[in-house]
Amino acid sequence: MLGPRYFYVIIGGGLAGLQLARQLSRDVFFKGKRIAIIDSDFSLPIKTWCFWEKGKGKWDALLTKSWSRGKFISSEKNIDLQLPPYRYKMIKAADYHQKLQEEIKLSGDIEFITDEIQNIDPVTMKAKGRKKSYGATHFFDSRVDPSYQESKKHTTIFQHFKGWEVETTDPIFTPDAFTMMDYRIKYPDATAFTYILPYTPNKALVEYTFFSPFLTEDKVYDEMLQDYFKKILKTKDFQIKSTETGVIPMTDYPFDNANTRLVTKIGTGGGWVKPSTGYSFKNTEKRIAKIIENIKSGRLPGEHLINNKFRKYDAIFLDVLAKNNQKGEGIFTKFYSKNSPQEIFKYLDEETSVSEDLKIMLSLYSFDFVLSFFRKVF
Ligand SMILES: Cc1cc2nc3c(=O)[nH]c(=O)nc-3n(C[C@H](O)[C@H](O)[C@H](O)COP(=O)(O)OP(=O)(O)OC[C@H]3O[C@@H](n4cnc5c(N)ncnc54)[C@H](O)[C@@H]3O)c2cc1C
Repeated sequence: MLGPRYFYVIIGGGLAGLQLARQLSRDVFFKGKRIAIIDSDFSLPIKTWCFWEKGKGKWDALLTKSWSRGKFISSEKNIDLQLPPYRYKMIKAADYHQKLQEEIKLSGDIEFITDEIQNIDPVTMKAKGRKKSYGATHFFDSRVDPSYQESKKHTTIFQHFKGWEVETTDPIFTPDAFTMMDYRIKYPDATAFTYILPYTPNKALVEYTFFSPFLTEDKVYDEMLQDYFKKILKTKDFQIKSTETGVIPMTDYPFDNANTRLVTKIGTGGGWVKPSTGYSFKNTEKRIAKIIENIKSGRLPGEHLINNKFRKYDAIFLDVLAKNNQKGEGIFTKFYSKNSPQEIFKYLDEETSVSEDLKIMLSLYSFDFVLSFFRKVF
């Protein structure tokens, strides 16, 4: 069967795919090109995305809430994070999906197709779906190649969590400050903490999060969250309005090596999740701008999307955390107590100079980092 033929096919209509489609549909350079976005399920997901940026941003109209203050709490330290000129911003994925789907449909330039893609054949230049095959001159593919989990050469840990969106009778939250990490409820021998996004004094998303080589059972998160309410927030009086779970790979696996003349991997599948943090929202915006710049300059869309210097730093950091998972609290305490939030955000945004990188690295210095440096660099 011949099947339809497109200029571009975007596989996956999530954070990366929808944003790429939106930017293509808004750019006259791509006018008249036949483009499709294919997803097995276009329904709205229950996910919360946070990111930081300076001043006003592209997504401000969609924000649920933003904060100019944060907290970091460990056994030793209680750190007040004063963020300006940055703000920590929160978007519900459902709001983002709905708005972008509407906007892209309104532009009339991009076809939405519900199908599950199984593979891309480089000879026929077709993506084979369950329903049809789709030809294209280039594919943007957000499927995640699962082989990263088997790679012996690379380090993978998982950021996995469960969150409860709760309403309480008493006003127990401080809505002017979110909690980046609170290590007071501990899981043995692991990097695990509570993360809080407070909307009002009575309403918040409270998540128990691991950065660990292992995954865990659902009831473990529930127990840790129950403990946090009982021992830290000291209340039994709350109602769970919704729950959110997630597993994000934190890995130095080079997903971008799969980029070719025919295929550019995007999103998590392209290695756009920062290995040391699990964040990808802001990276997505930057990388899509780079893809469009590449295309307009006659380069392959997937060229130079990943900064190798920062990928090495991330690899060392991941190795330390994977080999010494029980030391996460100490490592993050040094990170947040010896550097300002502005220095941290600039470094995590991969905008720092080598001397600024060195300052951050020296703040984390320990023999574990030296060992991981030699393991990852040589
Ligand atoms: C619960 C959760 C919370 C997160 N919170 C944050 C955060 O606060 N900040 C941050 O920066 N990052 C966060 N992340 C990490 C990351 O930003 C998100 O996972 C983000 O959605 C990744 O974007 P993506 O486009 O790669 O994948 P997705 O948004 O998951 O989109 C992928 C799409 O591809 C589709 N698809 C998959 N396989 C196929 C196939 N074979 N055929 C057709 N379609 C297919 C899926 O249905 C999906 O719609 C979070 C992740 C999770 C899971």
